[in-house]
Amino acid sequence: MPDSPTDIPREFHSEYEERPFQSCTRCGEMLAGISGGYQIFKLYRQNEAIYEYALCDQCYGGVLQEFSAESTEQLHEFHRQRVSLNLGRWTCAVCGNARGEDGEVEFSLSGACVGRRLIHELMICGGCRREMQALLSRHTREVWDRFVEENFPGVPAGTISPTELVPA
Ligand SMILES: [Zn+2]
Ligand SMILES: [Zn+2]
Repeated sequence: MPDSPTDIPREFHSEYEERPFQSCTRCGEMLAGISGGYQIFKLYRQNEAIYEYALCDQCYGGVLQEFSAESTEQLHEFHRQRVSLNLGRWTCAVCGNARGEDGEVEFSLSGACVGRRLIHELMICGGCRREMQALLSRHTREVWDRFVEENFPGVPAGTISPTELVPA
């Protein structure tokens, strides 16, 4: 089926389910009916998706609330200053490199969706992912790692970061 403006592009589909994400990875809520929308995240290495999840806005908002005010402000500030939301999914939203440039094998894709519509998409290269991880306070990293451990089985702590999602 070809992509159209109202369809979630193939790259944002669940590899595991071989179709668009149907439900929130954490709470199981059906995504199509969530008025506040949801986020999709996929981590790629050598062009193969190795981790993926979908998170409804309730679950995403819940974990964000556990961050300290300072960390939340830091995340927002970083996004305001460094992240472009309009570069598409072949260009790093932070440094502007193309996928695979400089031999970088890793990148992440994030999408903010409502129903069957993709509202924002974000690609972040491996180098920028590592830089953004370092930006988090210890408290934020602990909160997030616990969240990942409890909700995303099989995803090792430290491999994904809240900085890579589209800010709420
Ligand atoms: Zn949820
Ligand atoms: Zn980059």
